[in-house]
Amino acid sequence: FFKPIEKINAVIESYPKGFAGFKRYLEVIDTEPDIQDAKDAKAVDELRGDIRFNHVQFGYEADRPILRDLNLTVKPGETIAFVGPSGAGKTTICSLLPRFYDVTGGSITIDGNDIRQLTLKSLRKNIGIVQQDVFLFAGTIRQNIAYGDLKATDEQIWDAARRASLEETIRQMPEGMDTIIGERGVKLSGGQKQRLAIARMFLKNPPILILDEATSALDTATEAAIQQSLAELSTGRTTLVIAHRLATIKNADRIVVVTEAGIVEEGSHQELLANDGLYRKLHEAQYQMA
Ligand code: ATP
Repeated sequence: FFKPIEKINAVIESYPKGFAGFKRYLEVIDTEPDIQDAKDAKAVDELRGDIRFNHVQFGYEADRPILRDLNLTVKPGETIAFVGPSGAGKTTICSLLPRFYDVTGGSITIDGNDIRQLTLKSLRKNIGIVQQDVFLFAGTIRQNIAYGDLKATDEQIWDAARRASLEETIRQMPEGMDTIIGERGVKLSGGQKQRLAIARMFLKNPPILILDEATSALDTATEAAIQQSLAELSTGRTTLVIAHRLATIKNADRIVVVTEAGIVEEGSHQELLANDGLYRKLHEAQYQMA
């Protein structure tokens, strides 16, 4: 019975090519990953989350660079929001951190460790990702929150659900925590799926978070409540937000504006508005559309 869960557990920390969702993960589980541990890779315990991109270069194809010389420092506990036009490279920047891909030049360090010198397992244990498409597997709510963590206690799972404001919903379900969800089970709404993803992260409790903000619209009240949960989740963690809606960005400690040319502006919401640059233009455009 636990076999599939063990398999997922192994995969979560060890398999790359992440942002397309874990489905593809599972399909490729038996193939050789192209990102592997260095021979002398070090297993780290809990990182603080001091992240540095040093002259980072990266492209998916050899002749098409996406990041040319990216430099960025994120302090422990800081929340950074990446904004910019579609295709600018926001997702790409974030996918380098858990090593879904390796840089082709420069380096990324966390707490002074080059991430290529850490074991993938220990690196990814320290990084939580909340994606747009929440991957649910066929199983109970409990299993979906624990997400392969066989050591999680009932109390910890309920606590995570509570902090993600999912407790009431679960109590109202026919079998509570043991309700089967997924394709053949109870269908969760978009907002409930987001909450489940947040509950997973409260349980995992990583010092570093990547939030890939949902583009699909939830209703305004659900949206506001989810934002509130995400704000709580990111408290005390180094958080990188791939932001699509400017309204959610204002809470970030720092906003990083990315275009195909790289990072073109950095600062707080107020500072960037005063700058009268691209951020201000994006901001005005979004309010006109709303
Ligand atoms: P959006 O706001 O639309 O999510 P983004 O700023 O996050 O965009 P990325 O998804 O990082 O941008 O994409 C940057 C560039 O890299 C784009 O030109 C995109 O087509 C390309 N790209 C992204 N993923 C891949 C991939 N797996 N293989 C090849 N090219 C890719």
